[in-house]
Amino acid sequence: MSAVPFANWAIAEKQRLTNWAGNLTYSTDRVSEAESVERVRTFVRSQEKLKVLGTRHCFNNIADSRYNLLSLKPMDEVVSIDEAARTVTVGAGISYGQLSPHLERQGWALHNLASLPHISVAGACTTATHGSGELNGNLATAVIGLEMVTAAGDVVTLSRAHDGDEFRGAVVGLGALGAITKVTLAIQPTYQVCQYVYENLPLAQMKNHFNEIQASGYSVSLFTDWQKQRLNEVWIKKRVVGKAPAAAPAEFFGATPATRNLHPIAEISAENCTEQMGVPGPWYDRLPHFKMGFTPSAGKELQTEYFVPRSQAVDAILAIEKLRDQVSPHLLISEIRTIAADELWMSMAYQRPSVALHFTWKPDWPSVQKVLPVIERELGPYQYRPHWGKLFTMAPAELRSRYERLPDFLALAKKYDPKGKFRNEFLNRNVFGA
Ligand SMILES: Cc1cc2nc3c(=O)[nH]c(=O)nc-3n(C[C@H](O)[C@H](O)[C@H](O)COP(=O)(O)OP(=O)(O)OC[C@H]3O[C@@H](n4cnc5c(N)ncnc54)[C@H](O)[C@@H]3O)c2cc1C
Repeated sequence: MSAVPFANWAIAEKQRLTNWAGNLTYSTDRVSEAESVERVRTFVRSQEKLKVLGTRHCFNNIADSRYNLLSLKPMDEVVSIDEAARTVTVGAGISYGQLSPHLERQGWALHNLASLPHISVAGACTTATHGSGELNGNLATAVIGLEMVTAAGDVVTLSRAHDGDEFRGAVVGLGALGAITKVTLAIQPTYQVCQYVYENLPLAQMKNHFNEIQASGYSVSLFTDWQKQRLNEVWIKKRVVGKAPAAAPAEFFGATPATRNLHPIAEISAENCTEQMGVPGPWYDRLPHFKMGFTPSAGKELQTEYFVPRSQAVDAILAIEKLRDQVSPHLLISEIRTIAADELWMSMAYQRPSVALHFTWKPDWPSVQKVLPVIERELGPYQYRPHWGKLFTMAPAELRSRYERLPDFLALAKKYDPKGKFRNEFLNRNVFGA
């Protein structure tokens, strides 16, 4: 048991804790909760090794520990909204699904959300989780301040305004710098979004009009099963300007408007998907693909995602399309999204306008594990960066070479965690090269 009497989930539930997808059983039963910064400090001081857990949505072992897991789930309060500064400060345990309706009620909004709202703000930002939109940075780019408990148990605050480069190193911290206890995010006045879905976009149109397609909405997603020389669905999320819903063309580069709400996999019921057909609604009920009210406790899928430079996106997409016969048997659906460049050292979009090629796989790791190196070989010329929270097989040395600021990040980690208290096998292998 832990040195302090926190709830122990695993023992209470008499079963081993797994991640959301169920493909990872965490390597320890020692799972503790903290409900205050003081508790976090006491716990961190008392342990030699630990990892902080978010909402367990990562598909790999970045959040795993063989020693101790610490959940900050009880620290899920909205601490304050600063209207003048246009910021919200939240406890690190809060999810976007909890925060968003609260912001909406007060007349505020975030710039973007991921496909699913149930992910913790701290866990999402620390792995550079993103939505879509060529002018939208990932979710971590909204962070303007952090409060963190370091390995020594000290409380450190870092802000965009005062800590410059160090702040840009800490935001996508991969859980390696300390336990984040509060996050301050930029907010903006609330807005409405309309969502339009088109079906069957010919691959040739994507090739010739990629930039126009990406520019057609505030957030655009292309879904494909890589079959039949077409992209199955195009989801266009447009911000409503004034009172009238944004107009949508009847035909879109050869794709036809959907006649009902669709799931990204058209055969599946769309009841859990956010409203489409151009019906305006609040930002938080349109930017994710799935509704806040739909709370899947576990998934039957695996995920992988590779970020390539926007300028080479079409070539990279066509390279994957050639692998369709190897990819499709294991695939549920792929999604293609754009992300603006940012300055966060360990972000997949660091100094690079990016396109993310995402794969939702059937839950069959032995097969997926064989197809990933094939995809990675094909994407090799495009200097891809894999999503920190998803599955990949890229060699660690190659991965590290894709991050120019890695030496600075390692120095930052040494400053806040000199003995590697927050490191685990994933970080040692992929980031620290140990
Ligand atoms: C169904 C589904 C949909 C998804 N959709 C998207 C998407 O649209 N876009 C996208 O980019 N990603 C997506 N992801 C991936 C997901 O956003 C990331 O894996 C994210 O990191 C998960 O956050 P979490 O809170 O569950 O983190 P966890 O898996 O619990 O932890 C991840 C990392 O964060 C660290 N961490 C968590 N909280 C703290 C804290 N308070 N202090 C310090 N470190 C902390 C952990 O130590 C670990 O290193 C999706 C995942 C799923 C399962």
